[in-house]
Amino acid sequence: MTAELIAVGTELLLGNITNTDAQIISEGLSTLGINVHYHTVVGDNPARLEAALDIARSRADIIISTGGLGPTYDDLTKQTICKTFGRELELHQDILDDLKEWFLKRTGKPMTDNNIQQAMLPVNCTIFDNPVGTAPGCAFEEGGVHVLMLPGPPFECRYMFENRAVPYLKKLVGHSVIVSHEIRIFGMGESAVEDVLHEPMTRLTNPTLAPYAKPNECMLRATAKADTEAQAEAMLAPLVERVKATLGDVVYGVDVASLEEAVSGLLLERGLTLSAAESCTGGLIAKRMTDLPGASKVFRGGVVSYVEEVKSGVLGVPEDLLARYGAVSEPVARAMAEGCRRICGSDLAVSVTGVAGPDTDDRGNEVGTVYIALTSTEGTVCKKLSCGRGLGRDSVRMAAASNAFDMVRRQLLGLPL
Ligand code: ATP
Ligand code: MG
Repeated sequence: MTAELIAVGTELLLGNITNTDAQIISEGLSTLGINVHYHTVVGDNPARLEAALDIARSRADIIISTGGLGPTYDDLTKQTICKTFGRELELHQDILDDLKEWFLKRTGKPMTDNNIQQAMLPVNCTIFDNPVGTAPGCAFEEGGVHVLMLPGPPFECRYMFENRAVPYLKKLVGHSVIVSHEIRIFGMGESAVEDVLHEPMTRLTNPTLAPYAKPNECMLRATAKADTEAQAEAMLAPLVERVKATLGDVVYGVDVASLEEAVSGLLLERGLTLSAAESCTGGLIAKRMTDLPGASKVFRGGVVSYVEEVKSGVLGVPEDLLARYGAVSEPVARAMAEGCRRICGSDLAVSVTGVAGPDTDDRGNEVGTVYIALTSTEGTVCKKLSCGRGLGRDSVRMAAASNAFDMVRRQLLGLPL
């Protein structure tokens, strides 16, 4: 089954608001195994909505509209859909009575007449009662096409989709389940991943393998549709294994949310702790670690040593190293990590010192030149990154932090740095 979403609202076309309802619904439909082929946005204009509906009914099995179910003059969705599909609207006295009571309770005043249209619904429809707002939604089937109408306000739309539309749609699609696994990759770009996995990405239809680019990393989603969850898992297992075998150690996890989550898991398993001395990342490593609940078990703390006095005064980086090599250098990175490990009393410590931009530093280091050091009982290692080309300050900092996490991951797993 395929679906098309039609969002109604001139404010969407003007760019005043974003179409978050479409995101909520599309995400939900994909879990049901319903393919969404089109998102249409149309203003509060009956003629253009009618034209959009005509196109949608010719190419989709399910049409879901959002918005325009309310009481005001521009709320024309129901009327226009009924006109297009040749359905009459009928008054539901019970809904009208509830509305009148609701208004009296909420506002202390009688309901205004423009609200009557909210109690008008297509003849022979399934009513989606709305306990979180005033406008009910509804659904009907006409000529093999199912039309569902949901209110526009995102909170109402989400509630009505999850609690009213999903049960309706589940009856249409039967019992099939969709299961997905996310394979997270760091250190290999999207095009290189595609190059080695082109064949399964383009040939497979169930399960499928699809790439998603993320900041500084990429992700593959393997998805299977089957009668039961166990069957879907059995279809996915060989595919996930094949991807891991093809890509090797750039795969840092399956169904983990981030590099730092993978690192945190490894530290916890081994009973080890980490700390961070940060210059150009300004605390980003500490922030990303402490975003994880329970971080105190594995992350002891860190030092934002942004200026040389803090690098020497707090971390104990020898002043002559700073004078001889400059703050952005391998010897300083190593000394920062070692000082941090000593101060924080952690098993491992990482340090980052580099040029986030937009200008080169006073020693001529290019934007994106970053030294990352990692120290542990096994000694200290250092890596130089050159991630400048066209990257903004935020991206350089994100890339530096991610590379630091990946170094920790590789060290803990005994992989080459
Ligand atoms: P109401 O009863 O509040 O009038 P409605 O179903 O008539 O609801 P609209 O009048 O079209 O919906 O929109 C109400 C509000 O919901 C809009 O002002 C907007 O803030 C939000 N909204 C509408 N459509 C969307 C959408 N597709 N994505 C996100 N927000 C939306
Ligand atoms: Mg409205």
